[in-house]
Amino acid sequence: MHSATARAHVAAPDELRDRVILVTGAGDGIGRATALACARHGATIILLGRTQAKLEAVYDEILAGGGSQPAISVLDLARAQGPDYFGIAEQVASTWGRLDGLLHNAAMLGQRAPIEHYDIGIWHQVMHLNLNVPFILTQVLMPVLRQSADASVLFTSSGVGRRGRAFWGAYGVSKFGIEGLAQTLADELQTEGRIRVNCINPGGTRTRMRAAAYPAEDPGSRPEPASLMAPYLWLLGPAGHGITGQSLDCQ
Ligand code: NDP
Repeated sequence: MHSATARAHVAAPDELRDRVILVTGAGDGIGRATALACARHGATIILLGRTQAKLEAVYDEILAGGGSQPAISVLDLARAQGPDYFGIAEQVASTWGRLDGLLHNAAMLGQRAPIEHYDIGIWHQVMHLNLNVPFILTQVLMPVLRQSADASVLFTSSGVGRRGRAFWGAYGVSKFGIEGLAQTLADELQTEGRIRVNCINPGGTRTRMRAAAYPAEDPGSRPEPASLMAPYLWLLGPAGHGITGQSLDCQ
């Protein structure tokens, strides 16, 4: 029900005005599209990613579109240590004093292989980037999220995180974990009412990750990230106020 409402949402031009939103993996794919869409609707974006040139390109695109000046945080989340996380929290606290939106989008595919033969090292890498990092980043950013009158934490799920599918290995299991993390946190924060926590499943989308997962597929058969933005804007902006503990589908 919420998915249909979110997909039909048409955001007003300044709907996300005065909102400070951090997007991980903002340099490419769905994260890039979300950063651009939120900025176009008035939000100030913290562009977090590991490739500076890509983040700078998004930064320039936001400014060229008349958006408010974004911030860039270059960080390889696979290698981030305590001081890196606290540095982000400190930057947000000292610059804006609050965080209104947090989109956990960065992830890796890992290996497509049966569990029986799945490489244990790759398993750890995928579980760390896709599940541990969103947990740590959320925990470290809780104080600034609490300073927002209406904060939205959004975790990125997947169809293979709702029903197990052969050969998706750690990726699918990490997305099951993300659904569990989101439900647990949403339940813990329900009575507080100021921080909503949800999952979003973009569905098969024309990105580098999709091409890696389905090399034989015609990329043109999948929608572009920019066409999926209505539910992201709905959940990250004021329209989704009061919605928590949900897992939505963009397609
Ligand atoms: P892409 O691979 O196109 O983009 C991923 C982004 O995350 C890139 O900007 C990448 O940076 C960044 N990133 C990757 N690793 C790190 C890291 N260690 N530190 C910081 N940033 C990192 O993926 P999608 O846009 O396709 O996926 C976005 C989300 O949507 C993921 O959570 C994915 O699981 C989910 N999803 C995607 C689907 C699809 O069909 N595309 C379907 C279902 C879910 P860089 O560009 O520098 O490599």
